[in-house]
Amino acid sequence: MRTQVVIIGSGPSGLLLGQLLTGAGIDNVILDRVSKDYILGRVRAGVLEEGTIHLMDRAGSGARMHAEGLPHDGFSLAFDGRDHRIDLHELTGGKRVMVYGQTELTRDLMEERARTGAPSIYAAANVVPHDFDGHAPCVTYDLDGTTHRIDCDFIAGCDGFHGISRKSVPEKAIRSFEKIYPFGWLGILADVPPVSHELIYANHPRGFALCSMRSQTRSRYYLQCALDEKVEAWTDQRFWDELRRRLPAHHAEALVTGASFEKSIAPLRSFVAEPMRFGRLFLVGDAAHIVPPTGAKGLNLAASDVHYLFEGLLEHYQDRSNAGIDAYSTHALARVWKAVRFSWWMTTMLHRFPDTGDFDQKIQEAELDYLTHSRAASTALAENYVGLPF
Ligand SMILES: Cc1cc2nc3c(=O)[nH]c(=O)nc-3n(C[C@H](O)[C@H](O)[C@H](O)COP(=O)(O)OP(=O)(O)OC[C@H]3O[C@@H](n4cnc5c(N)ncnc54)[C@H](O)[C@@H]3O)c2cc1C
Repeated sequence: MRTQVVIIGSGPSGLLLGQLLTGAGIDNVILDRVSKDYILGRVRAGVLEEGTIHLMDRAGSGARMHAEGLPHDGFSLAFDGRDHRIDLHELTGGKRVMVYGQTELTRDLMEERARTGAPSIYAAANVVPHDFDGHAPCVTYDLDGTTHRIDCDFIAGCDGFHGISRKSVPEKAIRSFEKIYPFGWLGILADVPPVSHELIYANHPRGFALCSMRSQTRSRYYLQCALDEKVEAWTDQRFWDELRRRLPAHHAEALVTGASFEKSIAPLRSFVAEPMRFGRLFLVGDAAHIVPPTGAKGLNLAASDVHYLFEGLLEHYQDRSNAGIDAYSTHALARVWKAVRFSWWMTTMLHRFPDTGDFDQKIQEAELDYLTHSRAASTALAENYVGLPF
């Protein structure tokens, strides 16, 4: 088989890139090692920046998102027993974010892809990119006991942090930067109405908490927890009791509880691999970088990478110019590092670290106070939260 672009990975970045390319008449094949249903069962991100929303529209997949997504004009920073609202809309001159689950976004992109008839191959084992440092790359994979090969012009490595694309690059050609945080997030999903119509990021002596949602009837809540915590040790009742303790009293009283149907612990990590291009192989999204979820940047960064790569490939095929793909890594990384900085800063400001002393505690409190009382500081937060331009 031959195509123009092989996309490894059918997560948000692979699907979004695939639909943009298909819309522009550029042939592509998506390969994923797991099934469609498995991907649709993964519960992950939920806050979309305007840039991501525009890309979904451009990919022809935005209709349900606009109908069912929840536009948010602000969020609350809760500390000292009170809410301090960050008015995103007012501080950024009219911008907002949209709450719409990654699972739904993925489903919309998959359905649009099926409608356009563009090929996706699921449950493909041993996917391997070859010869991307030359002019004739290809990707091989195993399916139904047979090894297949797809020749192509370019390979987009959209296969997440544990994927094969980054691992296929010679070690000496890539540089990694990493920070591991000394805690995780225990998250639950429950079909109960959200405690507030906007997100609440709570800084509390017992640890960070986040009140988020997927819809007006489905809530997503998180608690900072130790890295060695076991999910089984957290009954629903224990989770709700702990969440109440970390929220201002009026939210704790209003909290509606119920049975959770998803509960998991995720470690927090910042990671960047440089560069993001190796000959005819491009790393996109989590394959190249990971951010802690504080600040809701992971999925949105994947979308901005897709934007830069799509524009570069469009220029290559339509204008016969390689300027865009040559600049891909530089442009994407410039935005990636700003989001990495923002996510690290939000994480540092909102969590209790095991080694936090009295001095660090006072600095954190002063920062929160400054942030919520200075228009300049609130504006910088809002500008980053709604997403820097791309
Ligand atoms: C548990 C968890 C919770 C998260 N919560 C949030 C959040 O609250 N907010 C936020 O902004 N972000 C969150 N994120 C991050 C966000 O989900 C990611 O940034 C986003 O999924 C990145 O999309 P992607 O397409 O680049 O990678 P992925 O979504 O990881 O998709 C990669 C795809 O590649 C496939 N693949 C992997 N290896 C291979 C291979 N060898 N061959 C073929 N296919 C392969 C995988 O099966 C997968 O389908 C979370 C991530 C995780 C893991």
